[in-house]
Formats: sequence, C-alpha cells, structure tokens
Amino acid sequence: MCPWTRRAFVAGALSLPVSCAAADSHGEPGGRRARPLTSERYFPNHGDPGFHVAEYDLRLTYHPPTRALDGLARVAATADAAGAGFGLDLSSALTVSAVSVDGVAAQFRHRRGKLRVTAATALAPGQPFSCEVRYSGRPKPLRTPFGDIGWDYTTDSPPGVLVASQPLGAPSWFPCNDHPADKAAYRVAVTVPEGYQVVANGVLTDRSTAPGSGTTWTYEHAGPMASYLATLNVGRFVFTTQHGGPVPIRNAYPMRLATAFDHDFGRQPQMMRLFQELFGRYPFEVYGSVVVEAELDEPVENQTFSLFGSNHVDGKRGSERLVAHELAHHWFGNSVTLAQWRHIWLNEGFATYCEWLWSEHSGGSSADQLAADNWADLAQAGQRLRIGDPGPDRLFDDRVYSRGACTLHALRTTIGDDAFYATLRAWADQYRHRNAGTEEFIALAEQHGNRKLDSLFRSWLYEKRLPRLPQRA
Ligand SMILES: [Zn+2]
Repeated sequence: MCPWTRRAFVAGALSLPVSCAAADSHGEPGGRRARPLTSERYFPNHGDPGFHVAEYDLRLTYHPPTRALDGLARVAATADAAGAGFGLDLSSALTVSAVSVDGVAAQFRHRRGKLRVTAATALAPGQPFSCEVRYSGRPKPLRTPFGDIGWDYTTDSPPGVLVASQPLGAPSWFPCNDHPADKAAYRVAVTVPEGYQVVANGVLTDRSTAPGSGTTWTYEHAGPMASYLATLNVGRFVFTTQHGGPVPIRNAYPMRLATAFDHDFGRQPQMMRLFQELFGRYPFEVYGSVVVEAELDEPVENQTFSLFGSNHVDGKRGSERLVAHELAHHWFGNSVTLAQWRHIWLNEGFATYCEWLWSEHSGGSSADQLAADNWADLAQAGQRLRIGDPGPDRLFDDRVYSRGACTLHALRTTIGDDAFYATLRAWADQYRHRNAGTEEFIALAEQHGNRKLDSLFRSWLYEKRLPRLPQRA
C-alpha cells in the first residue's frame, strides 16, 4: 500500500514469545459471502469469480540469509461455475513445480502473475475441491501503481520479512483468489532457523522445534479474512500481551523499542473498549500490533496484527492516532469489508473518523474541531475528488480519508448522535464478517435517520464540489 524508506538499525536482543489464548467462538467459517463474487472493477486481473475459497493452509519454509521460500499451499474451495479451469493469483517471481486438484495432478500455466489450473476432471457448480500448489523462489514486492507492495524486507541483517499487501500484494507470497470479497480462514505454518520469530494472522497454536531443521510456528485464524489482510513477519521480536480489553492484545516488536512501545501503544485496551462501546463487540478472537525494523509511510491494518514501522514508535505517542486508526479498521474494513475497491471511503473515511472519536475521548481535539480543520484544508487545497468512486490510482489519496471522515461527521450532525451511532452499530453487526458497498450503508443511515439522505451522500461522495459542513441542530 505504501512506499517506504529504509534506514540502518541495530538488531535487538532475542526473546521468547508468549503464546496466545486459544481462539474463541467469535470466528465464523471462512468463505461466507453476502453475494456472488463479481469481477473487481478497478483490478479485473485480480481474482477469479468462478470459485470461492473456504480455507488457505500454507506450509512454508523460509531461510532469511538466502531469502529462499519453499511453499506448499492447500486451497480448499468451492466452484461457482462449471468447468475444469480456474485461476489463482501468484507472483511470477515464484516458481511453481506441481499443482494437483483433489489429489490428482493438474495441468497449469503460470504467466504474468496468474496461475491457470486445469483439473483432470471438470468441476460442477457448488462442488467443493482442494487445490495443492508447490512453489518456491525468492519473493519480492509487486510493482503496482501504489508502489512496491506485498512481501518485502526489513533493514536488519540478515533482513527479516514484512508483508503489507493492501490492495494487491497478497500474490507476492502465496497463491490466492485475490479479491476483497473472497474471504477465507487461514492456517499458516512457517519454519524458520533458530533465533527468528514469526508473526502471522490469528492465534499462535503451535511452536515446535526439530533439531537441525529450525522452528515451525503455526498460526490459525478463522477469519474470515480477505487476502489483502494476510500477513507474515519474520524477524527478532519480543512478544507481550496487554489485558483489560475484551480479547487478548498481543504485540510483537524489537527489544530496543520496548520502553517506547509500552508507552505509545499502552492505550490499545482503552481504544478497544471505546470502539466496542460505540460500534459493538470486537469482531475477531485476538488483536495486536507488530512493529518491524523498517520505516513505513503508513501502518497497515493486517487482520488481528496491525503492522507499524519503527518510525511509528517515538516514546511520545506521536503516532497514537494511527494506533486508533488501524484498530478501528478491524470493524470497518476487516470485518465489514468493501465489496469492490471503489468503496474505499468505507474503509478510510471510517477509520479516520475513529481517530477523531479517540481524540475527543482521550482529551484531544473534538470531532467537531477536527472536522472543521479538515474541511478547511480540503477547501483550501481546491482539488476536488469524487471519493465515492475515486478511481484506481487515487484509492489512497488523502482526500478519501479526510473528506470521507467529514462525510460521516456531516451525517452525524444531520441525523443526530443517537441515529448516527445506531447506524454504525447496525453496519458493524449486519455486515459483520461480510462484504458491502456504499449503497447498503446509505440504506442503513436512511433507516436509522428516518429520512432520505440521497442528496447528502450524493454531494459528499459523488460530486466534486466540496459541500459545506452542516451545523449541529
Ligand atoms: Zn486506513
């Protein structure tokens, strides 16, 4: 998602991880969707609407000194269309050596980031199947309009691994149906040499060492999770757990940043309690933040383990608004996931507005003040963007964030606090673990606001001219 710059660093001391609590029953089976998959309008080359995935089971061996990755991916899926052929997204930097479907060798062709598989026997609509892909290579980021994204390297020596895929980087490290509406469960087992730690989505369910072959770290996450939120970090981390929230908050960071981290991320339990009070229960079994030895332009809301750069830890809570932002994405973006990328304001406008709510709650500027300040900046910039459909090149334009948050503030001042928060709670509840778009959100706001709101949303989302912020009644 974000181009980032590197800087040298001194590796921290090693420390053993604290294993996490077992998953609770909050997770729902992967692969549940509100509607059939349709081609992604902005990125039609990613994803295949002909099938949907229930679970990814990734067994990886990674050797940091050589950057060599060996992978076996088992993709449990269901066909939505008849035929023997389907496509998985996988970087051409990786080499596929074998593919099978339901245990029978399948033909495949791997070109331009697409692994096209032809099963020996045709699949019928509704038929479950399992596709196994053996692959290897030295992964590298994918070149996209958003910079180099996906699998990348940290600045330690030898380098560790970070993954920041939003929106298109997931195929840089595993074969997937890379569409935000194809959400699945994940099991990721990664073997690394002694001395390295592994961070992935969900709960660490096993860690076993075989003499001479390293340690295998197994993480499981019921999700469901979109592929762009899947993560893997390899490095030298200390693990700690914060209590006081509704689920365990386990964090991972370099030892050298321990004191600053404790201060900067110390209020995650309070943030979680605030957001839970406002939006309903936290949608997953676990949360946490990982800090890697790299400077990132922006953190990323990788599911259950938000990713931050070392530059986001200063011991002064200088990036605390971003700590709130990434947590808030777990309601808005990760649990309620956009149906198509053009609805990006449902992710970024909402998470930005949650920054403002945290600011107000924690004694900083009020949401009224922050809305007025952001509106003034937008007006002064004089550059106008239809944030409801910004175009693929402007997905992460600053105006999607600030005008999106102002849109929510305009809604709040128009329908009042009670109806506004009822709308957000209904949004998080009705579309929990599902996908949705702007039309569904407008319908909920009209229902809870008890009035037509099409002109408000049209002017804020689909017209270039910046509307005035409504005044509180
Ligand atoms: Zn965001």
